[in-house]
Amino acid sequence: MLVKDKVAIVTGSARGIGFSIAEVLAEEGAKVVISDLATSSGAESAKELQLKGYAVTFIPCDISKRDQVNALFAQTQVQFGRIDVLVNNAGINRDGMLHKLSDDDWDLVIDINLKGTFNCMQEAAKLMREQGSGRIVNISSASWLGNVGQANYAASKAGVIGLTKTACRELARKGVTVNAICPGFIDTVMTRGVPEKVWDIMISKIPAGFAGAPRDVGQCVAFLASERARYINGEVINVGGGMVL
Ligand code: NAD
Repeated sequence: MLVKDKVAIVTGSARGIGFSIAEVLAEEGAKVVISDLATSSGAESAKELQLKGYAVTFIPCDISKRDQVNALFAQTQVQFGRIDVLVNNAGINRDGMLHKLSDDDWDLVIDINLKGTFNCMQEAAKLMREQGSGRIVNISSASWLGNVGQANYAASKAGVIGLTKTACRELARKGVTVNAICPGFIDTVMTRGVPEKVWDIMISKIPAGFAGAPRDVGQCVAFLASERARYINGEVINVGGGMVL
């Protein structure tokens, strides 16, 4: 088991990639906090994994709200006594061409994807420095390199990479690793929202020839969260079937 008895928080894990990350970490022995702003589906997802016999709990949190993030970390510590792994997965998109993008869509995406990730990383940094150990895995996106119609999303995900590399430099000596994963095109509610024509174009750009499964990202997270990855730090790892080379 890669992360036996480690305590892990996964943000935005009521569904999609986050849920699969939580599931894989639980299978690999971790005690997992499923966290999401969607309270009923979050609780149901935790129940699904509890019924399989895993040590999983649900704590609601909107990562863009500082007080809720503080409460998430405080409750996790009360319940489990420590936090070994933070996976910053929660994220949204509000796509639109640069010349038409509204202030609201810019602000919302930056607030959740970038500020929300910062909020969680700051709490984790305080704890993990004291502990002298920890793993932070940030879910960025292949879009950080730039993508038509995604100025807000790409900027937020590029920001997450800047945060990742800075935190690595600040925390490495404290026994903490901080890495980013860039999923390519993964089959979730987020991507199922694209028109069929766009779906086909996306698949045609993937050397593997198919969309990834959420568990493909989960497996990479479990490895980065494990002792096996102790010397991998500040990296940006693509999980995209060869989409970005
Ligand atoms: P999804 O929309 O299926 O799931 C996102 C989850 O995050 C939902 O459960 C949602 O309720 C939650 N969430 C949204 N805002 C939140 C907030 N403020 N606080 C807490 N939770 C919040 O998306 P997904 O496809 O599973 O994507 C997960 C992550 O992977 C995102 O960060 C996304 O940007 C990234 N990503 C996805 C793909 C892909 O192909 N699906 C590709 C690259 C990157």
